[in-house]
Amino acid sequence: MNDHSTAASADRKPPLVKSNVVFFIAINLLGFVAAPLYGWLVGFNTAAWVAFASIWILSGMSITAGYHRLWSHRTYKASRPLQAILALFGTFSLQNSILVWAARHRVHHRHVDEVDHDPHSIKSGFWHAHMGWMVRDWPTSKIDFDQVKDLQANPIVMFQHRYYWPAVWTLNLGVPVALGLMFGDILGMILLASAFRLAFSQHCTFFINSLAHTWGKRGYSDENTARDNGVIALLTWGEGYHNFHHAFQADYRNGLRWWQFDPGKWLIALSSWLGLAWDLRRTPRFKIQRARLQMQFRQLRERLESDDRVADESVLTWREALDREYHQFKDTVAQWQAVQADRVAAGADALRDRWRKTELRTRYKELEYRLKMQHRRLVTMQQAAFAV
Ligand SMILES: [Zn+2]
Ligand SMILES: [Zn+2]
Repeated sequence: MNDHSTAASADRKPPLVKSNVVFFIAINLLGFVAAPLYGWLVGFNTAAWVAFASIWILSGMSITAGYHRLWSHRTYKASRPLQAILALFGTFSLQNSILVWAARHRVHHRHVDEVDHDPHSIKSGFWHAHMGWMVRDWPTSKIDFDQVKDLQANPIVMFQHRYYWPAVWTLNLGVPVALGLMFGDILGMILLASAFRLAFSQHCTFFINSLAHTWGKRGYSDENTARDNGVIALLTWGEGYHNFHHAFQADYRNGLRWWQFDPGKWLIALSSWLGLAWDLRRTPRFKIQRARLQMQFRQLRERLESDDRVADESVLTWREALDREYHQFKDTVAQWQAVQADRVAAGADALRDRWRKTELRTRYKELEYRLKMQHRRLVTMQQAAFAV
């Protein structure tokens, strides 16, 4: 239920943040009403479409690869030129400065779902998580700059923070006016490349806080409400794999598989090949597989208890098979922990020894392979147990 509204009936809702309310009404009217009307009645020229697409892609990618994965989570390191580009195009998105964004986002991760701490907790309702948290002066929306002490030492972040509002107006009004003068349609350029682009891309980002905590699969963790959703990933440059992200927030990838749409990941990888980014952090494959299997076991066990399609007499057989698999899983995890301990005990010297290194790698690969096969067995077991 909406905890804030229940609380509000007893107390009173916090006051509206008038500037935000006016801004959201204006941008949504301009973007979703005025812009389509103008397109229908007058039409947009090619330059307006090109400007819209370029700024939309560059600003969205900068939020994903910059605001989120670089500055909020420090999943990789980036050169100054790359940081400057990400800060510049991120400013186009009108999602507040990097410093403010990262401060709130880090609190969201630390206190996810907690109504009293998470700035956009889904437990306070879909609307609150989507936009409501910005239109009223909720105590949870206060910015805690203690969360971003590391970023306060970053000159690019601080420069953007200091000149944020002049930069926002220059980019979102000055640039389209200049382009409109060059290509002959100022109003069309403002409506498409700024108003519609802003209104549309902001809702897509807000969907991460609302939809990606409501709709989708929880393949890696059910400790929080975050979901993996391929449709939202399409709209947010890869950020829709939110269950994986909340489980492994230090990883520069959100969409783990090669077929998952994660241009944020591709941009970071490309930047690393070009020498513009380095120290890309990846979660060890075993840990990811372990989390996925843990969830599979839990879900299978729950379904065996509750699904009517499994005959009572065969539930016992399936449960025994599942227990055997779980026992094996525990054994593999224990072996992996032993290899980890071996590696630590061997120290850095042993890791320079090629034979020791190869031996360790082989053991890791074998254990990863065991989990991969076990995952397949569980999928088959599920299909067999619940076949109608
Ligand atoms: Zn995050
Ligand atoms: Zn989240």
